[in-house]
Amino acid sequence: MSTPRRVVVVGGGLAGHSAVTTLRQDGYDGAITLLTEEEHRPYDRPPLSKEVLRGDVDTTTLEADYDALGVALHTGAAAERLRPGEVVTATGTHAFDGLVVATGSAPLRLPGQAADVHELRTLSDALGLRAAFGGAGSVAVVGAGWIGAEVATIAAARGCKVTVVDAAATPLAGALPADVGRHTVPWYSEHGIDLRLDSAVTGIGGSGVDLAGGDRIDADVVVVGIGARPRTAWLADSGLTLARDGALVVDSRLSAGQAGVYGAGDIIRFPSERSGGEIRVEHWEHAAASGRAAARNLLGAGETYDPVPYFWSDQLGRRLQYVGHHGAGDRLVFRGRPDGDEPWTALWLRGDVLRAVLAVDRPRDVLDARRLLGRGAAVRPEVAGDPAVRLAEAVLPAG
Ligand code: FAD
Repeated sequence: MSTPRRVVVVGGGLAGHSAVTTLRQDGYDGAITLLTEEEHRPYDRPPLSKEVLRGDVDTTTLEADYDALGVALHTGAAAERLRPGEVVTATGTHAFDGLVVATGSAPLRLPGQAADVHELRTLSDALGLRAAFGGAGSVAVVGAGWIGAEVATIAAARGCKVTVVDAAATPLAGALPADVGRHTVPWYSEHGIDLRLDSAVTGIGGSGVDLAGGDRIDADVVVVGIGARPRTAWLADSGLTLARDGALVVDSRLSAGQAGVYGAGDIIRFPSERSGGEIRVEHWEHAAASGRAAARNLLGAGETYDPVPYFWSDQLGRRLQYVGHHGAGDRLVFRGRPDGDEPWTALWLRGDVLRAVLAVDRPRDVLDARRLLGRGAAVRPEVAGDPAVRLAEAVLPAG
């Protein structure tokens, strides 16, 4: 494969940023164009539901001098179509012989969701929500997932009366089994938050939420955080393969199946031997790492991309860190008591092999788990379940 001379990266999020900076770090000296829909320079999203919402910072711009790097950054430039060898925007076409698709994801909306209902994906969303919290007595959050829990935490800390509504029986139901998620329920009341589970929303507007069964929650501010979907509508007639959930299907080297075309970040579905199937990952570390890998493979590195997924969330006074990928049949073992006041960790095992770890305020377990998961280590469950012993010490000898 020859080295490309004109690379276009579509999407100025972390994955796109990581791709363009890696191209230069790895010595690529051809043309680079970064097209992004937002008016902002590429910025980081995790602080939006944390430091930005809290009022600690106003911007989260990713550090890079694009001029010095020789990257032609076009903000306000949404890609509308992909044709062979060129990306089409409203103002022109950008020819390429190397392309990284990194257009991320967009929040899911509820049927009938009005424009005065808040969502949280962009810096503008975060600044708008922060301003709205300022004048609000009450806030209703739809969705007790990662984003909903973080938004509720900050709204409560800012003195608002907060209600969180979710159709599932336990919080974080999209990511964690009920046996784990249910242990986060008491954290809500601890923070003065009214958590309504098993509560489907039947109507939603900027002044409140209607629930199945007839209840209504009136609120000054309504926020929806019920997940996100890949932003691939612009690829509809590109000939690239899109999965049922809209994700861009790539192979183990992040190639999207056309010469010189790669994908990175939230948008991709990729085969993971480590996780046992095709997965889509919507995490910061994956965006950075897949952007790097896509850039390197565009330059001919031929790297297989199959990292141990990692994610964190700061919510309800705790730091949650999840490493790995668990499946439905995996055995759950707790280190420490999830119904007590002390930090605890949930482990998932397949046979004796460690598959995933969720640590609640136990960062050392995450350090150990990353190493163990990286090499597919097996552990003694009775030792691994003892919070007084380092997780690393529970390892069974290989073979
Ligand atoms: P994005 O960040 O979505 O960037 C894609 C960019 O492409 C956007 O700027 C978009 O406007 C642009 N774009 C879209 N369509 C087009 C088009 N047609 N043409 C041109 N440009 C386009 N992860 C963690 O691990 N820990 C956390 O604590 C955490 N907190 C989060 C909090 C919030 C509020 C959010 C929203 C996400 C959080 N995440 C967290 C997830 C993490 O931020 C994402 O996984 C990561 O941002 C994905 O990066 P990306 O570059 O793939 O996509």
